[in-house]
Amino acid sequence: MALEALDDLYREVILDHFKNPRHHEPLTVHDVEEEGFNPLCGDQLFVQLKIEQGVIQDIASWGKGCSISQASASILTEILKGKKIEAVERDIQFFKDVMNRRSDLDQQDMGDLEALVGVRNFPVRIKCALLGWTTVEAALKQFKQVEGGRCKKIQS
Ligand code: ZN
Repeated sequence: MALEALDDLYREVILDHFKNPRHHEPLTVHDVEEEGFNPLCGDQLFVQLKIEQGVIQDIASWGKGCSISQASASILTEILKGKKIEAVERDIQFFKDVMNRRSDLDQQDMGDLEALVGVRNFPVRIKCALLGWTTVEAALKQFKQVEGGRCKKIQS
């Protein structure tokens, strides 16, 4: 199990987000909702995004599963809220690269995400740490398809 092997400080950060997840309440209004599932561990997540003018105006995430998956989702809501879609996509790719050892956190400040970097020493848990991020990625893809559909309707 990965959590016991992490530094005390990092474990505390993860458990804090797990027990007190941020932006945990479903939004009253949202533009897109996506569900993510990690069959390796049984983690389940829901992500909602409210997007205006290409900016993530509001974000919510909730679900059930291991502390790493739920903490990572909580941390990402803090990092991604208020950012432009392009910046969010860059952050997603960056964190994927970090977890797959193609990049390191010293290249960009990602707040509490630092606590999750140690998880990459446990390959079976990397999907737990990435679940929230891949779910947001899928939500953005879905949003763009819907937006594209709207544009086409207007044009015809
Ligand atoms: Zn998990």
